[in-house]
Amino acid sequence: MSRITKVTVLGMGVLGSQIAFQSAFRGKEVTAYDISDEAVAAGRAKLDALVERYQQDLGDAAAQAGEVPARIRATSDLAEAVSGADLVIEAVPEKLEIKTSTYEKLAAVADASTIFASNSSTLLPSDIAPSTGRPDRFLALHFANEIWKRNTAEVMPGPETDSEVLAEVAAFAEEIGMVPIVLKKEKAGYVLNSLLVPLLNAAGELLAGGYADVETVDRTWRLGTGAPMGPFQIFDVVGLTTAYNIAVTKEEPVQQEFAAILKRDYLDQGKLGIASGEGFYTYR
Ligand code: NAD
Repeated sequence: MSRITKVTVLGMGVLGSQIAFQSAFRGKEVTAYDISDEAVAAGRAKLDALVERYQQDLGDAAAQAGEVPARIRATSDLAEAVSGADLVIEAVPEKLEIKTSTYEKLAAVADASTIFASNSSTLLPSDIAPSTGRPDRFLALHFANEIWKRNTAEVMPGPETDSEVLAEVAAFAEEIGMVPIVLKKEKAGYVLNSLLVPLLNAAGELLAGGYADVETVDRTWRLGTGAPMGPFQIFDVVGLTTAYNIAVTKEEPVQQEFAAILKRDYLDQGKLGIASGEGFYTYR
């Protein structure tokens, strides 16, 4: 059992609302914070909308989900939001300046014992730690979108994170229904994206370089490794808009060609992946 019972989530966006909901759903005392009353109201609407998604996806297990939004306190007052918190989970926009200024304000009002965790996908704990005022009680806690279904939580220490804090946060993740994936030290991409990104890049290059078609690449991966899905099936899950946004920023000509294929043959045709019913494959 962790000693973490009071949790504050900073940012009530896509991930922050899900983290707040999941923590409250699993019995934690949750406060959510956002920058203005308007942002808090928008966050509240996201919490309300999650009830149906939990019920649809989890069935009977989500019988209590309807009671969750009312149990979450929400405020635009940072000091009030973090007062007495055991753990603050930060899910503000993925920009270093925003993270840094958020932690500077947070450090000024939080109790000395409060643990800070960042849900950042691409920044490392060492990028942010100096602004926290407590690098030993700071680490990354990275959830996946649709937290109630994709229930991994990557727990990653920075160079100065106390090992007891790492263990405490991993135990908390388990208590809210996650499978903790604990890293020994910081690494861009954590575990999952360190594996997945090179696979997806290579698949895009096989296609764009004219070496193999979509079905051949996927069949090879499934048969050769026993994996249930090939990389283009995974692209359909991730969404082809995201795939395009990543490929288009890369310098290699083959990645530029892959971006062009994604735009011409898929995005411009309204084929966005599973979400639109069609991507590399067609879904009912
Ligand atoms: P989002 O844009 O949906 O939400 C960000 C929220 O932060 C908004 O509600 C915004 O009002 C609020 N905000 C803006 N400035 C703020 C400030 N100074 N202080 C407090 N709140 C502020 O973003 P998101 O997709 O939820 O991403 C948040 C974090 O989660 C990022 O670090 C991102 O890397 C990470 N993440 C996102 C996903 C994803 O699939 N969206 C998955 C894993 C991790």
